Amino acid sequence: MRTAAAALISMVALAGTGLPAFSQTIQTPAEQSGYTRYTQYQDIAPFLDQVAKASKQAKVLVAGKTGEVKDFAPADIYLVVLTAEGIATPQALNRKKPTILVLGAQHGNEQSGKEAALTLIRDLAVGDLKPLLGQVNVLVMPQTNPYGNFVNRRTNEQDLDLNRDHVKLETPETRAIHAVFRAWMPEASIDVHEQGDNYYRVNSGRVTNANIAPAIRAFARDTIYKETEALVTAGGYTWHEYLVTEAMGSQGAAGAAEPTGANLEELTRPSTVDLNDGRNSLGIYETISFIQESASRHDIPTLKDRTTYQYLGIKGLVQSVARHAEEVRTLVASSRAALLKKASAPAPGDLVHLRMVHARDPKDPQITIQHFQTVPGADAATASPMKVVTEVVRNWFPNVEPTISVPRAFGYIVPAANKDVVKTMIAHGIAVQVFTADTEVEVERYLVDDITPSTEDYVAPDKIAVTKQAVKVTARKGDYYVNGAQPAANLIPNLLEPQAEFGFIRYRMFNLVPDKGATFPFLRVVKRQTLPLETIK
Ligand SMILES: [Zn+2]
Repeated sequence: MRTAAAALISMVALAGTGLPAFSQTIQTPAEQSGYTRYTQYQDIAPFLDQVAKASKQAKVLVAGKTGEVKDFAPADIYLVVLTAEGIATPQALNRKKPTILVLGAQHGNEQSGKEAALTLIRDLAVGDLKPLLGQVNVLVMPQTNPYGNFVNRRTNEQDLDLNRDHVKLETPETRAIHAVFRAWMPEASIDVHEQGDNYYRVNSGRVTNANIAPAIRAFARDTIYKETEALVTAGGYTWHEYLVTEAMGSQGAAGAAEPTGANLEELTRPSTVDLNDGRNSLGIYETISFIQESASRHDIPTLKDRTTYQYLGIKGLVQSVARHAEEVRTLVASSRAALLKKASAPAPGDLVHLRMVHARDPKDPQITIQHFQTVPGADAATASPMKVVTEVVRNWFPNVEPTISVPRAFGYIVPAANKDVVKTMIAHGIAVQVFTADTEVEVERYLVDDITPSTEDYVAPDKIAVTKQAVKVTARKGDYYVNGAQPAANLIPNLLEPQAEFGFIRYRMFNLVPDKGATFPFLRVVKRQTLPLETIK
């Protein structure tokens, strides 16, 4: 309840900011409708236009366009650049401050991420968060899936799940996200989602893939989690690290169908290590990257409430990065520089992790969590009365341990025939070169000793046993070379190695699953050699 006295205090506070009075009157489309409907694509351009007119700090760019589909004209995918300097290009970005990228509603039916992102844009541009631009630059893609929002469904206009498309980049939406990421190289990011109803209103998931620098994973847990929790809790909502409970041995996070019928034991773990999502796929560039999964009943009556707590979770990250701006900037810069240095001269002991498992931690054997339990006979739709129960989870797997790792290579040769693979790498912003003449090259080649292909698309072979052979081959004019010494140094082997769990091999569209006894087409270059190459533009 807002009292007259409170209203007076906030008016005095506003008067003190020196902001022009009109800027306080900009409402988000959701506010304009009194949170009675979801903001749609056609509401967003006028709102962003209004913000950009009122604020020198906000620049509205178009990062991509949705595909052709019946009954929905191609829609612009917006990027709003919020900086104290009011810049509009990556070249002009003040890199003395860390940059944060916010992704709203990749899943079209998880609407509140987009509403909260729009609120954030307004508050950074003309509202009470504007002073944060003294410490951080903020990039917001408020509506990454306009078609999914329109029909209120998870997938895009191709019926593809964007958050399972960050390796193969089949969708214009994920291509836009990665083009923005690679152009601006933000130090931190947050990908905003909704889950089902949950006692914990805001759930933050940090980067978990074992290739990402331990210092980045620890900073996310020890600093950002704590400060986000404090802000969300102070706002009157519950917060927890984002946890997933699944049947042991499940591949659900990959985007494959879940096993059914089996009565499998369950485990609880932090969110996925998979590189095909909007968090680890940016995190693999040594980014302090998050997913936020907030509680949702996916209905209009709860829209205002869920927008409020989504906003608090995102604000928690922005404030925390601003508070530790120099630490964040140097942590990410030094991690990225160290990776590049390692990749420029691979040492035998430098391993890239291709497969990993969630594991128990003897020092952290169980976790106690709260959740909702529906009272028998109660109306689940209104969730009232809901009982809060405490559970001690004994199958708690907080750690990640690599199971298959390989020494880092200088680079990889990709045959001319695998043009689809090369096109996808270029969409990732990976530099690819082409051989300008037939050349003898000393390489490592994989012989496939045994293979059990997966029965599902999006899943790596159930089993793949390989032997590495040191051989001399002739790289043909027109074959490709991917140098490992670039910002995607940890991503490249994870895309191209045959044993990589999250690589191109798992997608049927690339047709890379080899037969037993065959050699894998991608070759490892592990000795420094002068090769006749030119870079593909
Ligand atoms: Zn989602």
